Amino acid sequence: MNKNNNLDKIKQAFKKLPSVDRILRDEAISRLFDKCSRAEVLHITRKVLEKFREKILSGEFAEIDYSEVISEILRMASEQSVPNLRRVINATGVVLHTNLGRAVLCESACESVLNVARNYCNLELNLVTGKRGHRYDAVEEILTRLTGAESALVVNNNAAAVLLALNTMAEGKEVIVSRGQLVEIGGSFRIPDVMEQSGAKLVEVGTTNKTYVEDYEDAITDDTALLLNVHTSNYCILGFTHTTTIKELAKLGGKYGLPVMSDLGSGCLIDLSKFGLPHEPVVKQVIEDGADIVTFSGDKLLGGPQAGIVLGKKEYIEDMKKNPLTRALRIDKMTIAALEATLREYLDEERAVRNIPVLKMLVSSKEVLKERALKLAELLDVSNAIVEFSEGASQVGGGALPQAVLPTSIVVVKPKQISVENLAKKLRMLNPAVIARIHKDSLLLDVRTVKDEEINLLADALKRALRE
Ligand SMILES: *Cc1c(COP(=O)(O)O)cnc(C)c1O
Repeated sequence: MNKNNNLDKIKQAFKKLPSVDRILRDEAISRLFDKCSRAEVLHITRKVLEKFREKILSGEFAEIDYSEVISEILRMASEQSVPNLRRVINATGVVLHTNLGRAVLCESACESVLNVARNYCNLELNLVTGKRGHRYDAVEEILTRLTGAESALVVNNNAAAVLLALNTMAEGKEVIVSRGQLVEIGGSFRIPDVMEQSGAKLVEVGTTNKTYVEDYEDAITDDTALLLNVHTSNYCILGFTHTTTIKELAKLGGKYGLPVMSDLGSGCLIDLSKFGLPHEPVVKQVIEDGADIVTFSGDKLLGGPQAGIVLGKKEYIEDMKKNPLTRALRIDKMTIAALEATLREYLDEERAVRNIPVLKMLVSSKEVLKERALKLAELLDVSNAIVEFSEGASQVGGGALPQAVLPTSIVVVKPKQISVENLAKKLRMLNPAVIARIHKDSLLLDVRTVKDEEINLLADALKRALRE
């Protein structure tokens, strides 16, 4: 009896659901056809009806209102028109945030990308001879000029650069590395694993905190192909320590006829200590110190597109260019365009610091940050949250400069009506999404990574999230 009763209720509820035809004739729905195709609207309509049928079946018999169905379709249509990969306002203060796409490109790089994306370009055509050219020609000259290296090659990312270099120079042979440098970078890049993939055999020497040049020398055999130095870019070993310098390794390599490779990770082209940041090895210096091959990322401290840059002696780079892996790891025209434009900014250091967002954010003065935070706080004059100005510290991120403590200005927002988690979620769902840090029951907005042009947008987003 009870069962039949339920069945009747379900049947009735199903009957009350509007038909697809009726929905498509609805005035609000028909306005969707300006933006979406008929097929898309139909697809969404069916999905929504399906959802309501499931609701009915699961026991929510409550009559489903016609307007409820329509507004759900409209909501889904507007949600689906927002791309999955979308703009984010980064209010975390972490300059190189891997989850947020690492480096923001400079204007000239964006223009170059657009230009080659919209049009054909001479990617592999030598315009002087009219013959086939090389993909890397556009950046090789400027890379060697900026770093003093003989030759250059660029692949998809630095993990690929390390893999390619090890595979080319040491497949089936031994590579000597200090135990203090067997690093793991986020995204499961571990030196021992990459080494295995490359076909090279890892020979660990020294201890976690101390490795002397003699340790390397003692490990050299007839099978040794390479001496590898990995920059401990995302952590530091403090206290009772000793690391072998590139200069020492180069001297040792010279004695035994072995090349020396340095995986720099971040790869700075200018000396950041000039701007009050901790010292990071400058690529040019590492080459001068005698590294035969240097690898680093395009989208860490360099501030360019995702790429892995390999620099060094021509003989090794030529071998790498012939390696079939290079073809598999090759970069596209947009990466080359962005990288060339970014590198051109470095021809003038002052210009680089002014125009490359990563550098600009890192060297932002306390005064500039304070002014920006005060402006944001002022715009956030709302009744449903406590808004305060505070001082704090930002991180560099992206596995770079782990010791750097960058004094910054923070706007603290304590919502009165909703939880801070709920506020953070609402902000994430906006377009552009807003990402900030949570500390206890407050949202912390670090303005270091927020552009001046984004302050109004950020304030509006916050007001909206607090209101709704
Ligand atoms: C970041 C890093 C890598 C990996 O570089 P990606 O460009 O992210 O692939 C490799 N080695 C070191 C030392 C790094 O810091």
